[in-house]
Amino acid sequence: MRDPGPAFRRIPSIDELLKTPLAIEATDRFGRPALLEALRHCVEEVRGAAASGRMAVPNADAIVASAIASLQRASQPKVRPVFNLTGTVLHTNLGRAQIAEAAIEAATAAMREALALEFDLATGKRGERDDLVRDLLCELTGAEDATVVNNNAGAVLLALNTLGRGKEAVISRGELIEIGGAFRMPDIMARAGTKLVEVGTTNRTHEKDYAAALGPKTGLVLKVHTSNYRVEGFTKSVSGKALADITRAQNVPLLNDLGSGTLVDLARYGLSHEQTVREAVAEGADLVTFSGDKLLGGPQAGFIVGRRELIARLNKNPMKRALRVDKVRLAAIEATLQLYRDPDRLAERLPTIRLLARKRDEIAAQAARLLPALSAAVGLGYVATVVDCASQIGSGALPQETLPSAGIAIRAAGPRASGRALIKLAAAFRGLDKPVIGRIEEQALVLDLRCLEDEAGFVRNLAGLQLAERG
Ligand SMILES: *Cc1c(COP(=O)(O)O)cnc(C)c1O
Repeated sequence: MRDPGPAFRRIPSIDELLKTPLAIEATDRFGRPALLEALRHCVEEVRGAAASGRMAVPNADAIVASAIASLQRASQPKVRPVFNLTGTVLHTNLGRAQIAEAAIEAATAAMREALALEFDLATGKRGERDDLVRDLLCELTGAEDATVVNNNAGAVLLALNTLGRGKEAVISRGELIEIGGAFRMPDIMARAGTKLVEVGTTNRTHEKDYAAALGPKTGLVLKVHTSNYRVEGFTKSVSGKALADITRAQNVPLLNDLGSGTLVDLARYGLSHEQTVREAVAEGADLVTFSGDKLLGGPQAGFIVGRRELIARLNKNPMKRALRVDKVRLAAIEATLQLYRDPDRLAERLPTIRLLARKRDEIAAQAARLLPALSAAVGLGYVATVVDCASQIGSGALPQETLPSAGIAIRAAGPRASGRALIKLAAAFRGLDKPVIGRIEEQALVLDLRCLEDEAGFVRNLAGLQLAERG
C-alpha cells in the first residue's frame, strides 16, 4: 500500500490558509464563518484526493481560491433575470408581466420607507389597505366596489367560499377548466366548501340548463373564461348577459372569472377583442375576478370587482386576511392602474402592451441587426438565420391568437447536425450570465425577438457563450 504520510504533511492547516492575503480579503467579503466552512470543505477534499493518490496537494493560494469560487457560486442569486425569447409574452414560468417603470419606482419607495398603508391621512384614524386602490379599480371597471387579494386563484377561492360554502355552485360542464399549476375548477370548488353542480354538456349549454339547476340550495352561478382552450364545431354557450338575466330573476349572485382580464380594448393594438372587465361588469355579473400579472401587466394579484354588498361580505371572510397583498405590491398595483387613466400612452409605458403591440417588421429589422453578432457567437458549428415567428400572448389570453413576429433560428451545421448539438446549444444559451431562453422547434433553437428590448445588453451578454468545439 502507498504511504499517504508525506502528502498529508504538505496540506496547509486552516490557520495557515486564513492568514493568506487572499483569505483575508475573502473574510471581508463573505464573513469568517462562511469562509471557514468553505475552507474546511476544500481541505477535506484535498485530503481525500491526496489519500487516494489521485492528485498532488495544491498550495495554500489554490485551496483558498477554490473555497472562494464555491462561495461565489453559492452567493449567486437564484432569482435571476433572463432574456425571454420564447415568443410567449406572458410566460408563467418566466414571471409573467414585466412591471412598468412607474410601478417599480412606487414599489421601491414602498419598500424603503414607512407608508400610510392602513392609515387614513385625512382623519388620522385606522384605514383599509384596499382603500388605496378601490377608487381606481371602480373608475376603470365601472364597478361599485373592489377588493384585492394575492392572485386570481385566491380571488376565485375567496368568492366561492364566501358565496357558496355549504351551498351549490352552478357551472357549465364546458367551463370546468384546468389551467396550469394544478388550478382545477372542481378542486377549488371542493376546497371552498361548495358543491359543484354541472349543467349542460361539454360542447353545449343552454339557458334552460341553468334555469333548471337553480333552486333554494344555489349559492352562486359561476361563469369561467375558458382561458387556455376552445371547443369548436357544434357548440353553444350562454352569454354573460343572458346568464345575468337568469340569475337576477332568481336573486342568485353571478360570478364571472375572466382569468386574464383586460382593462382596455386590445383591438386598439391590433389584437382580437377580448371582453374587458368593464364589459363583464356592464353585462350584469355581480362579481368579476381577474389577474394582476396577465394582460393587465402589473404584479401578481387577484382583483374582485362588483356589487358593494357582496364585496363587503368577501372582506368579512377570514380568508381575506390570509390572502391579502403586501404593501410593495399594492404600491405597484396603484401605479400600474394609474397608467390606464391615460390609454393613449399605455403602449409606451406598460411593457406588456408595448411588447404585444410590436410590429413584425420592426422585430425583423432587429433580427437582421443581431444576426452577425449571433453568427459570430455560435461559431462555425452552427448556422443562424432570420426567420418568421408566431408569438403568443400566454397565460391563457386569446389562446388561439398568434402575433406575427421574427427571430433568429440556429441550427447545427453540416451532416452531423444532431439533436444533441441542439440541446447543447440551448444549454449554452441558458448558461450565459443573463440566461437566454428560446424554444426548440424543427431542429433549430429559435429566439423570437418580440420581447427583446435591451439589444446592447443582449450582444454584450453573448460574449460569454461557451460552446465547446464540436468534433
Ligand atoms: C389564470 C387564471 C386563473 C388564475 O389566476 P392567477 O392569477 O394565476 O392565480 C383563474 N382563472 C382563469 C380563468 C385563469 O385564466
